[in-house]
Amino acid sequence: MNPNAVWAAAVLPIVASTGILSDLVKTAGGDQVQVTCLATSTLDPHLYSGRNDYGSALNQAELLVQNGLAYENTWLPVLLTKANNPKIAAQGTGVFDASEGMTLLDPPKKEGARAWADLHPMGDPHYLMDPRNAVKVLRTLGVKLGELRPEQKAYFAVQSEKAARQLEAKIRGWQKRIKPLEGKSFVSYHPSLNYFGAWLGMRPEGVFESRPGFAPEPSFLRALTDQMKKKRVTYLWIEPWRPQASAKIVAQKSKARLRELSSDIQCEKEYVKSNQYSGFIEKNIDTLLRKFN
Ligand SMILES: [Zn+2]
Repeated sequence: MNPNAVWAAAVLPIVASTGILSDLVKTAGGDQVQVTCLATSTLDPHLYSGRNDYGSALNQAELLVQNGLAYENTWLPVLLTKANNPKIAAQGTGVFDASEGMTLLDPPKKEGARAWADLHPMGDPHYLMDPRNAVKVLRTLGVKLGELRPEQKAYFAVQSEKAARQLEAKIRGWQKRIKPLEGKSFVSYHPSLNYFGAWLGMRPEGVFESRPGFAPEPSFLRALTDQMKKKRVTYLWIEPWRPQASAKIVAQKSKARLRELSSDIQCEKEYVKSNQYSGFIEKNIDTLLRKFN
């Protein structure tokens, strides 16, 4: 038998829910994983409806990598029901919830105390915008990959640890650059950038949405603009797919600097790239440090 055929058959088939998670698992797993990304970063991952062209990826996957904390609740359960793959169904052996063990911003005060109509019923799920959390996930992914492929446990341990250390080195390098941002304030359209702001040492001064997932009412925006003016908020952050017009007006009236930041990596169906995460964070840092006009 051709030894290459045996090697190729051992490659672990994985589906990941977002661009960031696809990148982290591809980076942690190297050439021993095949990753299919389920979402698309051209739309809000909260509201993504799912495509019909995943082919056999969902049926053959031995591992599902998900963000958790209800982040994918509006679309992923439907795909999993259709796939009928016990390995990646709820409680399956091949489910990795990246949120396990994370310290959360904005956790619900009491179990079930928040309305499920809110897109963040279990607390702010955008924890991967803090690069220190991505380091944690690279390491726990390495362990999970080794559990699923015990014969490649050593390979995954080395690969994921190397990736984690590379990202830690990047973070150390960024600390000096981001120093001028410390103590400055921001408002973001959706609370998707609060972990990023917290890592930068910045102060959140509210969000555009009246509740996560709810478009702002004009009266809410008027009050927010007044508040931003009063508190001299430095930045207004918005992702490219959000409605831009009202943000431009609020930024103009409040004199906040409007900046377009991303909260996910471009998702390719067949995710064959790796090591995109640090470039993605760096681009956001560059955007913030750019001189205003
Ligand atoms: Zn959200």
